[in-house]
Amino acid sequence: MAQEKQIAWDLYHSYENFKEKSLTNRRFKHSDIVPLIERLKNNKIFKVDKVGKSVEGRDIYLISLGSGKTKVLLWSQMHGDEPTATAALFDMFNFFFDEDAFPELKKLLLSNLSIYIIPMVNPDGAEQFQRRNIVEVDLNRDILRQQTPEAKILKEVFDNLKADFGFNLHDQGRDYSAGNSINPASISFLAPAPDYDKTLTPPREKAMKLISNMVTVLNEFIPGHIAKYSDDYEPRAFGDNFTKWGTGVVLLESGGWRGDREKHFLCKINYIALLSALSSIASGGYANTDLSVYESIPQNEKFMMDLILRNLIVKRDEIEYLIDVGINFDEVNVNGAKEFYLKAAIEDVGDLSVFAGYEEFDLSGYTVEPGKTKPVAYHSLNELEKINLAQLYNEGYTNVILDNDNFQSEYSHLPLNITLDEKAIPESKIKPEESPNFIIKKKNEVKFVVVNGFLIDIEKVESWDGNSIIYGK
Ligand SMILES: [Zn+2]
Repeated sequence: MAQEKQIAWDLYHSYENFKEKSLTNRRFKHSDIVPLIERLKNNKIFKVDKVGKSVEGRDIYLISLGSGKTKVLLWSQMHGDEPTATAALFDMFNFFFDEDAFPELKKLLLSNLSIYIIPMVNPDGAEQFQRRNIVEVDLNRDILRQQTPEAKILKEVFDNLKADFGFNLHDQGRDYSAGNSINPASISFLAPAPDYDKTLTPPREKAMKLISNMVTVLNEFIPGHIAKYSDDYEPRAFGDNFTKWGTGVVLLESGGWRGDREKHFLCKINYIALLSALSSIASGGYANTDLSVYESIPQNEKFMMDLILRNLIVKRDEIEYLIDVGINFDEVNVNGAKEFYLKAAIEDVGDLSVFAGYEEFDLSGYTVEPGKTKPVAYHSLNELEKINLAQLYNEGYTNVILDNDNFQSEYSHLPLNITLDEKAIPESKIKPEESPNFIIKKKNEVKFVVVNGFLIDIEKVESWDGNSIIYGK
């Protein structure tokens, strides 16, 4: 194990040499990865095949390397908005492409393993940055019915290979925590069950040992941030069926990491996890790992929120109530799903002491009230940019009306919400599911405001880097 940890640290420290720098954020598309795949043909260790087309006609590729006896199949992004592992696979291709680096590790991998990789099983979903494919079918619920070309392709590749190991690579919600800790479940694992009884078959046990090995390595980098995905049997899913048919399947889910919405760090962790796993399959080392590691992985729980404002006072009929306010942000795709803005909603109000925030602020001694909409219309963006914010907030407003139809966007970077139609903006309430727009005061003086869930210190409005919402568009 000591040697495996050393290799993992070497991979960690040399990562920048292999990181695929053209994939700069999670909304990369099929057209971004095709040239990267085509380039692999310039290196004879890779075999590149097209194994079929998506509904919209995008090529799905199978990349193979190595000549060993043990077959390993890795596939990513069955869900189009779950790209972290896809990016890591391209880092891994760069690792193999470079002939000079890590010669011993490469020799171990390529002589003992035959590695087969399908990056981006769902390119049409990736195009829209949505979970499902373009006819709205969840590919990971289509192994029985085989209605989608993408699911058929994955099943055919599997049938041809009957791989010893499979890696099913996904992303999971940011709201998962590692057990009841304050840590996000940054990586969650599962050795999927082959039946409703969750029978411990030899392939499943093999996968559990491999996961134990991966967890031991990853604990070097992200201790306390690893969890176990629910092992409920899903008869329509790929991992569960592949396990039933004899493959040791590892489900790997990339979750959240504080301060890293784009998951650059978790992509690096994926890269280390996958190369370490391949290395321990190649050496056979995983077989010596104790199953108790797998058994002791905390469960995925849902105790994370994006932002928690703690210990606020809300007043009603002169009586004060102490509340925490939990806020989550949804990503809304724009510009052909190449970019996004954030839209906040109140997740919960009250005693949120069992929850943890990606960000938290203790606002003890502050009172909170809903931000209102100023009942006077502005006429241009230029006018809004010159607005006296301190005065606006002091009057209790976080939202303004703009009677200018030329406005095209759904969001802005001004620290106030804009509505193009007085009726389009919901009345502000401190209530679950409502939009979090607040005025926060101490001794009757406004100190903070919350606009679309972003906390703004009114002394530092200029440094605000959130986004507000434009209603009525
Ligand atoms: Zn998924």
